[in-house]
Amino acid sequence: MRYLTPYNKNRVGLHTFTDSADQQQYLYSQFEAFHCFRVFPCFDQPDLKAKMSLIVLCPKDWRAVSNAIEKRYQLTDAENSGRHVLERAGIEWFLAFYDTEDDIAINEFEQTPKISTYLYAICAGPYEVFEDYDAMYVPQRIFVRQSLTEFLRHELMFGITKTTLDFYQRSFGARYPFTKVDHVMSPDYKYGAMENVGCITYSDEIMCSEKHMSIPKLTFFCVVIQHELCHMWFGNLVTMKWWNDLWLNEAFATSLSYKACSEGGAHVEPYRDEAWLHMSGYKRWGLAEDLMPSNHKI
Ligand SMILES: [Zn+2]
Repeated sequence: MRYLTPYNKNRVGLHTFTDSADQQQYLYSQFEAFHCFRVFPCFDQPDLKAKMSLIVLCPKDWRAVSNAIEKRYQLTDAENSGRHVLERAGIEWFLAFYDTEDDIAINEFEQTPKISTYLYAICAGPYEVFEDYDAMYVPQRIFVRQSLTEFLRHELMFGITKTTLDFYQRSFGARYPFTKVDHVMSPDYKYGAMENVGCITYSDEIMCSEKHMSIPKLTFFCVVIQHELCHMWFGNLVTMKWWNDLWLNEAFATSLSYKACSEGGAHVEPYRDEAWLHMSGYKRWGLAEDLMPSNHKI
């Protein structure tokens, strides 16, 4: 099936954003719940999982990120390997959209395990990239738009992620179920963050718009990462049958993120006391909701 669709401008589907600081364009997806069908035809419901294979063509000064690790080719390289990738996939016809082949980068992603469509992700743009390759952990990268690079706490983010992966793996008795953790700082973002398999998207306003963050804000920074990492098991590996049980996903991820934060450990230690204050705020919110006449049994 050949299918063409424009980018979205309403922060769901495949959203496009132009940075007013430097006029650079960025793209990111937001597919929960349910918007994947806006980008390509699919049965867009959580109980129907499929393996995803993806090839992204983009300008060569862009990076493309998705759920799995990618290999990158130039179309004009000596071995013609980029062209072979397109031929193998039967998508050479796509080149008709380009005036010149010199500027194209081809990103071929490994096939994912079976995952729900709302957890697919595609992000692309001239991102600045920070990388962490530690033999004890899956690879991590952080993608941030160029104009916010100076605000990014990349060492803290890598450190919190490692401490939290240790905590969850120990608590759940199950290894991290995917091949890498990418963190994509996303402009103009609709939510706080989204747990796409191996490719977490975050509101860059929450994560890296200020040089000096207070302890309460850094605690939220920490807990957001921990919440999204928890979803890799609760939601991504084990998934609800239907959207009406999303609350259970979220409840697990929120309560365990506070548990992970209160346990402390390297990079997390300064936030463990503040975590309980945040948690009590959530509890108050929950009790207030519970009093409402619109509430219902679950
Ligand atoms: Zn969540």
